[in-house]
Amino acid sequence: MLQGKADTTRRSGWPKRKLQNVTDPHYDYIVIGAGSAGCVVASRLSEDPKVRVLLVEAGGPGRDPLLRVPLMAGALLRGRRHNWSYVTEPIPGLGERRCKWPRGKVLGGSSAINGMVHVRGLPSDYDAWAQTGLSGWSFDDVLPYFRRSEDFESGADELHGAGGPLPVTRREKPSSPLFETFVAAGQQAGFPTTDDFNGPAPEGFGRYHFNIRGGRRVSAADAYLTVQADRPNLDIWPRTQAARILFDGCRATGVELIRSGQRITVTANREIILSGGTVNSPQLLMLSGVGDGEHLRRHGIPVVAERKEIGRNLQDHAVVRVQYSAVGINTLARLMRVDRAVLAVVRAMLFGTGPASTFPLEAGAYLKSDPALDEPDLQSHFLPGLSTAALNWNPLRPTNAEDGFFANIYAMRPVSRGQIRLAGKDPLVAPSIQPNYFSDPDDIARPRRGVRLLRHIFSQVAFDRCRGHEIGPGPEVTSDEEIDAWIRETADAVFHPVGTCRMGADVDAVVDGELRLRGVEGVRVVDASVMPRITSTNTHAPTVMIAEKAADMIRQPR
Ligand SMILES: Cc1cc2nc3c(=O)[nH]c(=O)nc-3n(C[C@H](O)[C@H](O)[C@H](O)COP(=O)(O)OP(=O)(O)OC[C@H]3O[C@@H](n4cnc5c(N)ncnc54)[C@H](O)[C@@H]3O)c2cc1C
Repeated sequence: MLQGKADTTRRSGWPKRKLQNVTDPHYDYIVIGAGSAGCVVASRLSEDPKVRVLLVEAGGPGRDPLLRVPLMAGALLRGRRHNWSYVTEPIPGLGERRCKWPRGKVLGGSSAINGMVHVRGLPSDYDAWAQTGLSGWSFDDVLPYFRRSEDFESGADELHGAGGPLPVTRREKPSSPLFETFVAAGQQAGFPTTDDFNGPAPEGFGRYHFNIRGGRRVSAADAYLTVQADRPNLDIWPRTQAARILFDGCRATGVELIRSGQRITVTANREIILSGGTVNSPQLLMLSGVGDGEHLRRHGIPVVAERKEIGRNLQDHAVVRVQYSAVGINTLARLMRVDRAVLAVVRAMLFGTGPASTFPLEAGAYLKSDPALDEPDLQSHFLPGLSTAALNWNPLRPTNAEDGFFANIYAMRPVSRGQIRLAGKDPLVAPSIQPNYFSDPDDIARPRRGVRLLRHIFSQVAFDRCRGHEIGPGPEVTSDEEIDAWIRETADAVFHPVGTCRMGADVDAVVDGELRLRGVEGVRVVDASVMPRITSTNTHAPTVMIAEKAADMIRQPR
């Protein structure tokens, strides 16, 4: 097994020839999309020098040094660079509001712009997948793939891996004393603490681990492609968008690509691996004639295979933020001055130190909304700043100078389901995204209890020295109805969409347990879209795990 570690001191190892024209367009494997999953699959498959692998990515090569600065995540997710910058349809459960839906468009995909929090969800997430008949996907089955991907700072043990490509680290000292205040308040309120959300007892308050090394972001591309890009059998084409998968009958033969405005065709002898993510994988399948026949015909697309579920089963975490003003303590507002902000970014870029070398979601909690529950059903992240400061932070355009803090909270396993549909047959037109947040009443009842829990946490003695007034929801919002109305007015996407190419043992599922696309031959889907049910927490590490496992399944077909 190859376990190249990322060079985190600079973006290195991108030999120019890898990113330029290749004269022979015939490959064994074509991987579409260089995100959390695609980078892993391309890297693992190309470990075999006998196979030729092409990895295509619609976004750029990711040489922008700001991508490596952890605090830039807030600006990256709101910005248009390196980002598909999708916007949803009006969402009925949010009073017909639309949400911004950032997705990474660059080598590394969403892992190049995300919050870098490294969590796996709960073991029961995978056991629940296995219980639907997906043998090989229980927690015990997938644990070796999590371990293989990781370079855990405390070393390997039963639950953690060391020496893998993805650093899993935590700052020795939290970047703000408020993180410890949050954990202490949880303890004072009678909740457990945890030393490791990926450990044997993840319930309670604690500090998160991140995919950061030496104060710099390590995306899936940094982790899996930087060293491997030297391989003569791996071609990486950024700024290349797959327009459709080509079929001979039901057998996939190649991919039509758009590069520099030209349409070109590349062929795959063995397999095409679709890793475009939860929005773009179903979109590309539908553009290629695989999907709900009626929907495809409406867009004038000839049907290759009727697969009704493609694009359906969309799940995401929807978040609300309980916010307070702060007194007598430094918060992120300090960084809202241009001189401080620019200095922080330069420091992080050059030395990997200072306040921009972290993403300030360092503490959080896995909580039960009802003590009678068997396991947590709410996840929270605490941030020592107001949401406007954190999410709109841009070193050159500071927007807010007020001191404050917030904790967000969301239901871990929402049951509402949305969908991705085509908005047109042009591959360059964004698809229609309807997440349908809170269409199920249970999905709003849990964060409602979460809001009350957070108020209770913030009322603890630990916060007495710095608590100002409650900004959101605001002290006047107390009844169930008032809290629900506030949730619908303010809830936002937290960017963990999954499920639109659902894996399942049943015949309606989009892919089978080996991630093969049903109804055609020669295509697998490998990305977050295959999750049958959303994992309880953030989704990057689970997606990397899926890709590690997929690479094994592709290399050793049963
Ligand atoms: C702003 C944000 C913050 C997040 N924070 C966290 C976090 O802190 N922790 C965590 O665990 N998870 C987080 N997530 C979620 C996590 O990053 C994603 O679940 C994960 O990256 C999804 O991986 P993927 O491979 O499915 O898709 P992506 O990583 O999105 O990769 C898909 C890739 O395919 C490319 N592509 C798409 N269509 C085509 C095409 N037709 N041709 C060529 N290329 C194409 C895209 O440009 C992209 O690079 C966050 C996500 C976002 C967006």
